Amino acid sequence: MPLFEYECVPCRTSAEKAISNIMKGGGKSVPKTVKDNSVVRSAQIIDLQKGKIEAEAGKPAENGQDIIRYSEDGSTMFVMNTDVFRFSELIYEKGDEKRVKCPSCGSKKAKKVVSSFSFTSDLSTDMPKPDLSNLPPEIRGKVQIGEYIEEKDRPKKNR
Ligand SMILES: [Zn+2]
Repeated sequence: MPLFEYECVPCRTSAEKAISNIMKGGGKSVPKTVKDNSVVRSAQIIDLQKGKIEAEAGKPAENGQDIIRYSEDGSTMFVMNTDVFRFSELIYEKGDEKRVKCPSCGSKKAKKVVSSFSFTSDLSTDMPKPDLSNLPPEIRGKVQIGEYIEEKDRPKKNR
């Protein structure tokens, strides 16, 4: 099946900017970052040592995708939920690619993502989730992890 994975460049850029913003700015920057970035639906900063949510804003999209980052020392986890800007399309003919557009912002500036994953699995099912068993128990149920985990954020054993 000629199923290809695409990623919207403007949405990706905006999401990357937003998450580095909260990684630098800390708790205070979270509400403004969520509000100012249309692709961002929610964000949380989680102190893994204290086992508590330091800051959060917004509500994750029902079918959103998550971007997860850790501070360099691994003590803090940053979870950001965004509208879906990584998506798969069936391409049968060359012209089909012209119709590809971002489901979130409608931009046609989507680029093909080279991923063996998209050729072997339907993206809508069997999405591996990150291993959250090492999260402090107090916050385990409170962390907003959606259905879509970016490939680079997935547990290594599932790659
Ligand atoms: Zn987009």
